Amino acid sequence: MNAVAVEGVWKFYGDFPALRDVNLEAASGACLALIGRNGAGKTTLLRAIAGFSKTGKGVIKILGTSPREPATRRNIGFIGHGIAVYDELSARENLTLYARLYGLPDPRQTAIEWLERTGLERVRDGLVREFSRGMRQRLAVARAFLHKPSVLLLDEPFTALDDRAIAVLQSLLRDSLAEGRTIVLSTHQLREALELASDVALLVRGQVAFHGPCTPEMVADPGLVYRRHGEG
Ligand code: ATP
Repeated sequence: MNAVAVEGVWKFYGDFPALRDVNLEAASGACLALIGRNGAGKTTLLRAIAGFSKTGKGVIKILGTSPREPATRRNIGFIGHGIAVYDELSARENLTLYARLYGLPDPRQTAIEWLERTGLERVRDGLVREFSRGMRQRLAVARAFLHKPSVLLLDEPFTALDDRAIAVLQSLLRDSLAEGRTIVLSTHQLREALELASDVALLVRGQVAFHGPCTPEMVADPGLVYRRHGEG
């Protein structure tokens, strides 16, 4: 079964079709890199896959069910532009809260473990509103991973991370794939994404211009997909 299936999906903002008859899938254990220029529709698509927005037409399924079902939601980890952490809480309080919301057995210990894994241990009691963008992004990574979701939907996860944090995230993503989880990630940082990706989809003005396996040729020359199937 495909872990993520998108069938004939359209999304309109007023009269503007941001997604036009999108068909895509990601098999269990696959890593699909979603690429495309600014405004191509990557964020719109990821939010729709995550069940945050309704689509006009078409069907989206995560592990065979609607992403809007509560049971499905628990199996999704999401990193988006608006980072879903609480400014007035500390890093540790944020993660403890989310671990509780997900009903994890030992919320405090889980929070500590993820603060360590994302390099936030030293600032664990600092309020998030005082965090730099990179620190917030690390916290968003911890929050997306801590409940061990089967499907990770990541919108520009490398943005704002320094080189060390990029390496940490890449290793988390590799571990996730080794454990059989599925990843869909959008990115401008082609090199980092293609190193992990098993499949690539290129969006051009809301349409899928290319969808296929990520080849060694693409990894060696990240601009290749754009030149062959995009707008040059
Ligand atoms: P970026 O890489 O810049 O984040 P993207 O590929 O993620 O771009 P989207 O943010 O999904 O693209 O936007 C797709 C199109 O839909 C763009 O033309 C954008 O202007 C438009 N759009 C996005 N959100 C809205 C909205 N809330 N209302 C109206 N138009 C929108």
